[in-house]
Amino acid sequence: MDIRDFSKAKRIVIKLGTNVLRNESGEASLPRLYSYIEDISTLVKSGKEVLIITSGAVGFGRKKINVEKSDDIVLKQACAAIGQSKLMSIYENGFDSYGITIAQVLLTEDDFANRKRYLNLRNTLNRLLELGVVPIINQNDTVSTFELETLYTDALVSFADNDKLSALVASEMDADLLLILSDVNGLYDCNPKDNTNAKIIPVVNDVTEEIMNLANGVSAGGRGGMKTKLEAAKVVTRFGGRMIIANGKLPNVIKEVFTGKELGTIFLPADDKLTGKKCWICYATNIIGKIKINNGAKKALAEETSSLLPIGITTIIHEFKKGDVVSILDEEDKEFARGISNYSSDDCKKIMGRHSDDILQILGYKNYDAVITRDNITIL
Ligand code: GLU
Repeated sequence: MDIRDFSKAKRIVIKLGTNVLRNESGEASLPRLYSYIEDISTLVKSGKEVLIITSGAVGFGRKKINVEKSDDIVLKQACAAIGQSKLMSIYENGFDSYGITIAQVLLTEDDFANRKRYLNLRNTLNRLLELGVVPIINQNDTVSTFELETLYTDALVSFADNDKLSALVASEMDADLLLILSDVNGLYDCNPKDNTNAKIIPVVNDVTEEIMNLANGVSAGGRGGMKTKLEAAKVVTRFGGRMIIANGKLPNVIKEVFTGKELGTIFLPADDKLTGKKCWICYATNIIGKIKINNGAKKALAEETSSLLPIGITTIIHEFKKGDVVSILDEEDKEFARGISNYSSDDCKKIMGRHSDDILQILGYKNYDAVITRDNITIL
C-alpha cells in the first residue's frame, strides 16, 4: 500500500487548531476557513465520511469581548461559550452553500471515561455520518472537569486538549486517517528554532520514546503543542489508523493531502493493533486509582495470559470504586498497564498480598479470584 494513498480511506477526522482558524489579528480567518470547508465538501461529495474537531471557541470568545489570554479558568470557560456560537455560524454558513448539513457536538472527558456514554456517543456519531451530516466537535470547555486535575495532580485525564480529543474520536469511530492541521510544518528531527538545519521527518513508523523526546513547547494559540500531537499519534496508530501533521496555512492543504502530496509528517499504524474495549481502557478513561504490584506479578501480566491476583499487589494509591479503570505500576512506580478493577480500593487494601482463597473470609464476599481479570487489562 502506498502510505499516502487515501483513495480507500472511508472515514476521516480533521482537526483544525486555533492558530489556523484565525489570522494575525486574532479574527477568524474566513478565506482559510472557507477553503477548508470547500475541500471537505468535495471529500464528502466523493463518498467519504468526515468528522471535524475544531478549536477556536476560546480564542474567538476572547476577541469578541476583548480580553487578553490569562490563567482565569472561569473567564476562559465563559469565552468558550461566547466563541462557540461564532465558530458554528461560520461552519453553518459555509457548509450550507455546498448543501451539506452539520451538527454541533460538544464533549467532556467524562463522555469518554464513562463506557455507557462512550458507546452512546459512537452510536450518535455513526447515525449522523449515515445521514450524510458532518459532525463538528469541540471540547465543552464551559463544563469541562477541571476538578479532577486539581483533586489529584497525578490523575490521568483522557483529554485536556483537542489534539488528544481528535485521537480519541478517530479511534472510537475507527477512522482511517486523522489529519491534524496546525501552524507547524510537521515533526522536525530537532528544534527548528535553535537549529537552522532542522528537517521534517516525513514518515514515522513507530512513536517511540526517542520520537516523543523530539516534542517541545506549546503552540501560542491553542492548548496543545508537538507533545500532545505525538500523544495523539500514539493513540491513533495503536488502533490501526494513520495520522498526518501538516501546516494548515498551506494553500489547499486538505486537497493536496488527498492527492497524495508529501506534506508534513505521516504516522503509520502500529503492528500490535488494539481494538474495542482494550483501546477504551488504555486511552479513553480518566484514571485516579493506582495499583502497585511486585515483579513476579508484572512478569505474569506482561506475558498476557494471567489476571492480576491480590497476592501480587503491594500498594494501593488513591481511592477507586469497583468497575473503575486503574493504572498498574511496577516496583519502580512506572505505569505499564491499565485495567478495570473488580474490587474497590478499600477492599483491595484488605486483600492485597493475600491468596485469592482468603478473599471470602476477609471481605465476607467474593465475586472474583482476580482483582483485575485478564480480558480487562491492557498493556501499554
Ligand atoms: N476547545 C478549545 C477551543 O475551542 C481548544 C482546545 C485546544 O486547542 O486544544 O478554543
